[in-house]
Amino acid sequence: MSYDYLIVGSGLFGATFAYRAHRAGKRCLVIDKRAHLGGNVYCENVEGINVHKYGAHIFHTSNKEVWDFVNSIVPFNRYTNCPVANYQGRLYNLPFNMNTFYQMWGVTTPAEAQAKIDEQRQEALENMQKEGVAEPRNLEEQALLLIGRDIYERLIKGYTEKQWGRKCTDLPAFIIKRLPVRLVYDNNYFNDSYQGIPVGGYNRLIDGLLESIETLTDTDFFSDRSHWESVAQKIVFTGPIDEFYGFRFGKLNYRTVRFEQELLDTPNYQGNAVINYTEASIPYTRIIEHKHFEMFGQAVYDCPKTVISREYSTEWTEGMEPYYPVNDDRNNQLAEQYRTLATQEKNVVFGGRLAEYKYYDMAPVIERVLQMPIE
Ligand SMILES: Cc1cc2nc3c(=O)[nH]c(=O)nc-3n(C[C@H](O)[C@H](O)[C@H](O)COP(=O)(O)OP(=O)(O)OC[C@H]3O[C@@H](n4cnc5c(N)ncnc54)[C@H](O)[C@@H]3O)c2cc1C
Repeated sequence: MSYDYLIVGSGLFGATFAYRAHRAGKRCLVIDKRAHLGGNVYCENVEGINVHKYGAHIFHTSNKEVWDFVNSIVPFNRYTNCPVANYQGRLYNLPFNMNTFYQMWGVTTPAEAQAKIDEQRQEALENMQKEGVAEPRNLEEQALLLIGRDIYERLIKGYTEKQWGRKCTDLPAFIIKRLPVRLVYDNNYFNDSYQGIPVGGYNRLIDGLLESIETLTDTDFFSDRSHWESVAQKIVFTGPIDEFYGFRFGKLNYRTVRFEQELLDTPNYQGNAVINYTEASIPYTRIIEHKHFEMFGQAVYDCPKTVISREYSTEWTEGMEPYYPVNDDRNNQLAEQYRTLATQEKNVVFGGRLAEYKYYDMAPVIERVLQMPIE
């Protein structure tokens, strides 16, 4: 056998594992079925702009070890995620904070904002009581109880219905457990201590992790499984777990996103990286303007063009990118059956979003790999 580890998949899980194993003196080969390395954080350079091909990726964490680790590979910039919502042409800051409440109701103090929210929550409670309903029966009732009518109708309803492809009245209440409100003028989406984008883009992070490590792209593990199983002592598998087991219990389902990308002949299309479209009549959920992740101030205008992506949340079918695990009974039970098989493997480690059938942000993926033993 030529290698200690065959790593199937060059996303953040595979690349971080390869980095650590290589540093521990292990011989590693990384293969990926795509034509490029990096998995879903891969960016394509279009007219000098790093375009997040598989959806906008913003790195955020409160884990200093993870933050120091990624910054030791490539420094991160000062990007701070401050999405804006567009509802019928009016703009509202997200997450819900004093700016949003001012835009919504003209209130200027936290006490006024709180009073307005309380008044609308009370109204929702009374409406439910009138109907003899004790517990919210669906997502709509839950959201109305938590935040009131105005914010629900303008900023939650349409967006959520597009995301899930179902009416809020047909979605279970538990999807929204909390709707945090901030009674301060703070548009920073994340509460984490650290956030940013790698300077020069995510490919620099992946290239840094995989430096001096043998890699093969356009190479599918399943195209010659017995060969790939024979090249290394151990396999780190980051592809879909159901495929590894020949779909023997059935196929896992996903939700996915379709991107409509456009190159525009203007330096600044929407003035922000992320604008959500929260009304139901606009079919896309968001428009991403990629340059704002990495270009600030004059740099935006020094680059004469811009690239935008409209995002359409879609049911997954064969041949589409599997993005989000579906958190329902059928899929949870199926995933558990596959995970049980996986625990019996001696020489295969399963990791990452597809192999664990679990939604993972980037930082927890890295944290997980940093904690793993390299044997
Ligand atoms: C739309 C979207 C937006 C996101 N935005 C954010 C964000 O803003 N912030 C954040 O922290 N996280 C975000 N994430 C999560 C982030 O993408 C994941 O945490 C990360 O990609 C997980 O890395 P991974 O290595 O597990 O998976 P992946 O990046 O998917 O890598 C798996 C790799 O395995 C390869 N592979 C699969 N099967 C085979 C095979 N048979 N043979 C060879 N190779 C194979 C695939 O081609 C792929 O390259 C987002 C995810 C999605 C879907």
